[in-house]
Amino acid sequence: MKAPDIAYAKPASLPEVLDLLEGDEDARLLAGGQSLIAGLNMRLSQPSVLIDINGIAALEQLSEANGVIRIGALTRHRELGESPLIAKKLPLIAKAVPHIAHMAIRNRGTIGGSLALSDPATELPACCLALDAMIVATSKKGERKIAARDFFKGLFETDLQRNEVLTAVEIPLPAGGSVSGFSELVRRHGDYAIVGLAAQGIRSGKGWSSLKLSYFGVGDRPILAEAASKALIAGKNIADAQAALDQDLAPNGDGENSAATKMQFARVLLARVTGSMD
Ligand code: FAD
Repeated sequence: MKAPDIAYAKPASLPEVLDLLEGDEDARLLAGGQSLIAGLNMRLSQPSVLIDINGIAALEQLSEANGVIRIGALTRHRELGESPLIAKKLPLIAKAVPHIAHMAIRNRGTIGGSLALSDPATELPACCLALDAMIVATSKKGERKIAARDFFKGLFETDLQRNEVLTAVEIPLPAGGSVSGFSELVRRHGDYAIVGLAAQGIRSGKGWSSLKLSYFGVGDRPILAEAASKALIAGKNIADAQAALDQDLAPNGDGENSAATKMQFARVLLARVTGSMD
């Protein structure tokens, strides 16, 4: 199928984008187009107008200031994966990016599009949750910042309002001594994850003084496994932490994997990721 006829606008600045959005409930932003265009071709939605935000400089920065890394919404997955700043300061994201789809999709797909779409089987929302990111949303009224734990509200549902542009993601620099780990289980490299885990923490002797375990693919949004991380912080062994995952996760089965299989994958990832964090 082909997309229906849709009007197209290419504003030159963020204020112009906000003007267009404010006046039209059915307008849709076009970033990398990697999900939106496929959805239009399948006629899953019919926006009144596509507002192309590519080229808007205010959405393109990637910088560090005052202990925060600010990633503009139009930053492509490939740019994240190649950035020396990200590799040095936010290695969790650098570890996650090669798992996102394939190179052609990483060349175009953006962090803003990924977070706004909020597919529960994707890598960057889970990383943002593990890293205590703040999502910056801008409307004509100004800017508001939403903690990642409040931003993801359900299946493809976020706190973003129709008249808002996700303009940037702000991630506090991890404390000294932090380590990170990332892994996902997929049928083929580049597929959406069956189950994945993004983890960020600080070791204390053989245990942990802090640990965030952010799972994806096991619910309608990324999920922090708090009982499992508490068990590890309390010095319990990995088997106890794997058992504690029953309190954190309740995945649904799908056509290919049962709920029990997904839980088993989550337990496997817990041992694999926490055992290799650096
Ligand atoms: P678009 O497709 O342009 O937009 C997506 C949605 O977000 C639209 O509703 C749009 O209006 C909205 N939007 C975009 N930018 C903003 C903004 N700044 N503010 C507010 N709303 C906005 N992703 C993964 O993470 N992991 C994968 O394994 C993976 N596999 C894929 C495999 C295939 C075959 C394909 C086609 C895509 C895959 N993707 C995967 C998705 C891809 O990585 C993109 O991240 C994703 O499509 C969204 O980014 P985009 O920039 O392309 O957004």
